[in-house]
Amino acid sequence: MKSDVCIAGGGIVGLSTAYRLAKKHPDKNIVVLEKESRVAVHQTGHNSGVLHSGIYYKPNSLKAINCRQGKKAMERFCEKEGIDHDICGKVIVAIEEDEVGRMENIQARGEANGVKCELISKERLAELEPHAAGVSAIHVPEAGIVNYRQVCERLAQIVAEREGNQIVYETEVTKIREVSQGLVVETTKGEFETSFMVNCCGLHSDRVTALGGERAPAKIIPFKGEYYELEPAAKRLCRNLIYPVPDPQFPFLGVHFTRMINGDVECGPNAVLAFGREAYGKLDFNLRDLFDSLSYPGFIRMACKHWKMGLGEMWRSYNKKAFVKALQRLVPEICVADLIPAPAGIRAQAVTPDGGLADDFLIENSNRIVNVCNAPSPAATASLNIGKTVVERLAERF
Ligand SMILES: Cc1cc2nc3c(=O)[nH]c(=O)nc-3n(C[C@H](O)[C@H](O)[C@H](O)COP(=O)(O)OP(=O)(O)OC[C@H]3O[C@@H](n4cnc5c(N)ncnc54)[C@H](O)[C@@H]3O)c2cc1C
Repeated sequence: MKSDVCIAGGGIVGLSTAYRLAKKHPDKNIVVLEKESRVAVHQTGHNSGVLHSGIYYKPNSLKAINCRQGKKAMERFCEKEGIDHDICGKVIVAIEEDEVGRMENIQARGEANGVKCELISKERLAELEPHAAGVSAIHVPEAGIVNYRQVCERLAQIVAEREGNQIVYETEVTKIREVSQGLVVETTKGEFETSFMVNCCGLHSDRVTALGGERAPAKIIPFKGEYYELEPAAKRLCRNLIYPVPDPQFPFLGVHFTRMINGDVECGPNAVLAFGREAYGKLDFNLRDLFDSLSYPGFIRMACKHWKMGLGEMWRSYNKKAFVKALQRLVPEICVADLIPAPAGIRAQAVTPDGGLADDFLIENSNRIVNVCNAPSPAATASLNIGKTVVERLAERF
């Protein structure tokens, strides 16, 4: 099979790229290769479903720019395609007085990024979220919720509707060869010829980068995010989105309460080392992935720096009471019986050789391949803009 552009990965980044390409360059044939039997099986289908406002990110970073523009594009897409979403707003709560300074810094960052957000009193917090504790908070009215799996299904449908385009499932990219006219992508279902390729393989993006002959700037270390769901009777404890003030040392936001678009309320996610890139269950592991993580000097350096935090997260992972205690800081009425285990997600966290947690999105390109090397949260919110950026880079080479 021949295409102008072959996109590996049917998560939200790959599908948004395919969608943007189909709209901007309708003359180009697109093939999306996805190793699973449907779209959004990994990160995209296991996330919190939040439309992030862009409040947290360094001004002018790729995250800040793509989140702001991508969120607007995602809202427009949902409105046009009739996909349920709700701009319900969120609160970021300072529980202790000593968190107020950090909270104010976040609000200042949000304002610099053009996010409408205001500092609110304890009394106003009680009006918005009557069961949340806290001395003060930030209210972000423009944060929202959506089902990203539904978004992906619609994106895939639109791309595949166009003649000449195809989404090929159960097809894993195993090798990429450069030939005189372009590339030959070897897969578990045979060879695909293409002029250009985009790697949007999420948890496997560093390995697919290597298949194309490039070295990824950072290795993917899988971090599991575990959730509980609130029992129906306890759903009243959270109206919308209740977040703590995050620790600025880490890219994760801390366990929080998220109302999902179907009305369920999820609590989490934590952040623990996953014993495999797709090892979702407590007892699941993959020897190759685990060895790959543990033997990576960047991981060892990171573990030395953050071992205390890591152990705390592990403890909360295996001890429900400890998890509940973290949640009780935000909503004191929550108790162990209110929580039912819910499916976990695994984040593709790029870790640099010096042990740094790559914070910003990373998009690298060689002659014929664009590699999306790091697309962590808020990449689902930002996806339509990440796709636009990738298409601009491809267009320079067409
Ligand atoms: C627990 C959790 C909560 C999150 N919450 C939010 C949130 O609320 N809001 C937000 O904006 N973001 C959130 N994120 C981040 C967001 O989900 C991700 O940034 C985003 O989904 C990344 O999309 P992706 O397409 O890059 O990766 P994925 O969704 O992982 O897609 C990659 C695809 O590539 C396929 N693939 C891999 N290797 C190959 C191969 N060799 N050949 C063919 N196909 C291959 C995989 O099967 C997969 O379908 C969260 C993430 C997690 C894990």
